[in-house]
Amino acid sequence: CAKEPIHIPGAVQGHGALVAFDTQFQQVLACSENIENFLGCNPEQLFGKSAADCFADNLMTAMQRAANRLDPATPTASFEYSFEQADIDVFCTLFKIRQQQSQQLLILEIEPLYVKLASDFTSTVRQQFGRVQAAKTEQQTLQQLVKSAAAISNFERVLVYKFDSEWNGEVVAEYLRESDISSFMGQHFPASDIPPQVRDMYRVNAARKIASTSMPAAQLVQNPDIEALEPLDLSLGMLRAVSPIHAVYMENMGICRSLSIAIFDEKKLWGILSCHGLRPAQTNPYQCHALHSLVMMASQRLMLQRQYQALQFFDKVEQSRKALLDPDKDIMAPEQLLKSQGKRWLKLFQIELVVLVHGNEISQVGEKLPLSTLVDLAEWLRKKHWITGLFSSRELGASDCSMLLKDTGFQGLLAVSMPYEKELNGWLLMFRREAVEVKTWAGQPEKTETQQFKGRTVLSPRRSFVGWQEQLQGRSIEWTDDEKQAAKTLAEDLAIGASAYQIEQLNSQLQQANDRLEHLVHTDALTQLWNRYHMEQALDEELSRAQRHGHPLSVIIFDIDNFKQINDDYGHDVGDEVLKGISKALDSLMRKSDALGRWGGEEFLVIAPEVELDNAAELAERLRQVMADIEFDKAGVVTASFGVAELDQADTRSDLVRRADKALYRAKNEGRNRVYSE
Ligand code: GH3
Ligand code: MG
Ligand code: MG
Repeated sequence: CAKEPIHIPGAVQGHGALVAFDTQFQQVLACSENIENFLGCNPEQLFGKSAADCFADNLMTAMQRAANRLDPATPTASFEYSFEQADIDVFCTLFKIRQQQSQQLLILEIEPLYVKLASDFTSTVRQQFGRVQAAKTEQQTLQQLVKSAAAISNFERVLVYKFDSEWNGEVVAEYLRESDISSFMGQHFPASDIPPQVRDMYRVNAARKIASTSMPAAQLVQNPDIEALEPLDLSLGMLRAVSPIHAVYMENMGICRSLSIAIFDEKKLWGILSCHGLRPAQTNPYQCHALHSLVMMASQRLMLQRQYQALQFFDKVEQSRKALLDPDKDIMAPEQLLKSQGKRWLKLFQIELVVLVHGNEISQVGEKLPLSTLVDLAEWLRKKHWITGLFSSRELGASDCSMLLKDTGFQGLLAVSMPYEKELNGWLLMFRREAVEVKTWAGQPEKTETQQFKGRTVLSPRRSFVGWQEQLQGRSIEWTDDEKQAAKTLAEDLAIGASAYQIEQLNSQLQQANDRLEHLVHTDALTQLWNRYHMEQALDEELSRAQRHGHPLSVIIFDIDNFKQINDDYGHDVGDEVLKGISKALDSLMRKSDALGRWGGEEFLVIAPEVELDNAAELAERLRQVMADIEFDKAGVVTASFGVAELDQADTRSDLVRRADKALYRAKNEGRNRVYSE
């Protein structure tokens, strides 16, 4: 059936007739055997004469005018005509075809106008157009379309097939003129019912009329006086003879005439409006044209409605994106990002589980999977699908990773990679459970039979169209392109969010490292007091401040007495402990504004801003006493000698320190463990 060359049947439907001319209408090159019904002369008579001798002048003029109207956008032109001799009104369709030696032919199709249009036909058409246009949703539009198509025509059953990704058709809308007509609503038709060459034909000519399955076809006869023509391509016309197999198919379905009009989504064949006549009747060609226009308008509406649906989906995705990267909120860790949006995504994507793999971190929202399974899956994805960054399956049991997800109950997986560098393996994973689908087929599709036809064995169409149910297991619902696109966008945002978090983490680590370094630069490692570097800087600052404002500033220098002896007696470690102990004890006595630092080995400096000499000496005395009260474990009591000096207006830093040093020197000389001021 799929191999049948349906565009060159070599015959036309018997109710009409066909004549083929050269492009100048000088000669009849071929015609259908029944031409006499219209012209009053048979093919042999026709072939012997010039066209002008066989066709009335007004018909020649009408054909010439129609030929002038042909162009690539409107490849057919039609007009009405009356054959007075045969007393028959006809509807003529003219189109041009090209033979392989690039010879062009004009084809005239003649169809009798049996049925007069009702006087209110145009107003009915306009009303039905309005109704289809007013339908709000996709489903309402389809329902109204079949209803309106029935109102414009006289078919008993009108339905819309919608194709799935494998070209199986599903009846998604139906109108039955009478209640006892059997319904096909919801039923599925296998792709082989509308084979590829038929689908291709719809692209060339969106409408196909079969006036009667019982009327014998009229064979085409070629003018014997000319070179052999190739079989005539009748794709563009409306009279193409019915393939015998298709006629049997229709009769098995109880249909004796039909009109089908393709529904396109952009350039893609989306479905078919199919009108079934269950009793013999005639259809006016204008009704077909009106239905064709109605379908074109409805297709536009359906496209808009689908786009609107997609828009709403992406609107929700957009809200999620905004929330993921909200500049007013704190930067979130990948896990928090998923937690904040995961529930929303379960609903939006119709999934049961969403997982975020971010290197070694894995977080999940919804039904959970074992971590080890997810780790293996992420590794498999990295190996097999890192380049494309996308893997999707609605039938995991039949996919390459079936072993990894066996017995998990999930049959659908959409995996999109997070655009990181290669070292970090990141994926957004969406899982769908199995959705057992019950498909009602119009007749059991696998049951193909053969039959004898014209001495050949051919496939026979199904005899029965009684609904036959098939259970589809091991599959989830399909992942749409929009869902894949949206998941990709979200993964990109997650990657940005996760990177921002990482940068923030690194920044705060860097800050901590800087703080530590800063601390090290200014602090003495042993005593944790300020070191000499810091004390010199601090002293310079305090000095210039004091001099600028004329405020007092004093310093105390003290040096531990006979410290060498402690080292010598108990070892260096005990000496260190003494340094640490003294530092700790004295530092706790300092006011906030005072600074205590290690000035040299066992020598210390106190900077006391806003303090005059006497008060500084008192502070030194307090320090001396506190020290002298400490009893070290081995070293026992340790004392120190103190030198105090106050800033003079003209002092430099070394002037001030030198004077304090001088006082300290005196304290040492006078017997140690005492305070002297300069
Ligand atoms: P004086 O009363 O005259 O100050 O006598 P002294 O022994 O304290 O003075 P001297 O300058 O002779 O000795 C100071 C000693 O302090 C020498 C040095 O080994 C020791 N010292 C300096 N820094 C450290 C340190 O960080 N740890 C230890 N354990 N000892 C130190
Ligand atoms: Mg000393
Ligand atoms: Mg010393």
